[in-house]
Amino acid sequence: MENKRLYSPNKIRETLDKYGFKFSKSLGQNFLIDGNVVRKIVKEAGITKEDYVLEVGPGMGTLTEELAINAKKVVAVELDKKLLPILDETLENYDNVEIIYGDILEIDIKNLIEEKLGGGPVKLVANLPYYVTTPIIGKLLEEGLNLESISVMVQKEVADRMAASPGSKSYGSLSVFVNFYTNPKVVVKVPKTVFMPQPKIDSSVIKLDLKKDLPEMDRDKFFKLVKAAFSKRRKTIINSLSTYGFDLEKEEIRQALEKVGIKPEERAENISVEDFIKLSTELPPLNI
Ligand code: SAM
Repeated sequence: MENKRLYSPNKIRETLDKYGFKFSKSLGQNFLIDGNVVRKIVKEAGITKEDYVLEVGPGMGTLTEELAINAKKVVAVELDKKLLPILDETLENYDNVEIIYGDILEIDIKNLIEEKLGGGPVKLVANLPYYVTTPIIGKLLEEGLNLESISVMVQKEVADRMAASPGSKSYGSLSVFVNFYTNPKVVVKVPKTVFMPQPKIDSSVIKLDLKKDLPEMDRDKFFKLVKAAFSKRRKTIINSLSTYGFDLEKEEIRQALEKVGIKPEERAENISVEDFIKLSTELPPLNI
């Protein structure tokens, strides 16, 4: 294979044509074709030669190649079988890359980190397939994996929601979920022109640094509370919680809110993650 970096659009077109590859919309296939963006993602992810990296959806290996150059080892999980022979060719010069065929939502990531990535801590880097961004982030955060950071390209609006602070329009249950587990930061804004095929929306790269010491608490109850609180954004917190179907008296909710120092007429969009945590410990069990 000639020594030309993968992110040149001609090189990508040529390789895909050679294999008769057709992009699959349903697998969220929008490949990166811009070297500056590829390098920026890897730089912002802070990848060094000490790092074990997990990539989701290598596509034809454009980002994978840049990761391989900068990291100690890269394991990339790809669901489209048709890409496997292409990846064999495009990454043939890198002996620190391993491609795993599978669905990131199905595979045992804990085991994969143990067996192939030195047990972690691992940095995850990906240009995520947009149709499954939230389930993937959910799985990565909930499974207690040995991850140091997650740097992912997602739809701009989704990145804004993840990184939003209380009081902003984008703040919602996804913000609380992500901020419970991580410190999020939008690190790169990416126009739609750097993808093939071009999507309809712009993207952002968000870096989630995982928090090391999560509070000891009933997480199930906490996330039930958050879901109920944001179920009707326009309602006051006391009305959202008292009409959601929990087996709770309005007075019990009022007392818990007062203990935490949240006004009953406050709206969920103004309540911080810390206050939601305190409220979930003050409330009686949430039966539903
Ligand atoms: N990383 C490449 C790039 O930046 O050019 C491709 C990114 S493309 C947005 C998403 C990739 O994820 C595709 O290669 C797609 O086949 C793959 N994919 C989709 N769903 C997946 C899943 N559930 N598990 C693993 N890979 C998946």
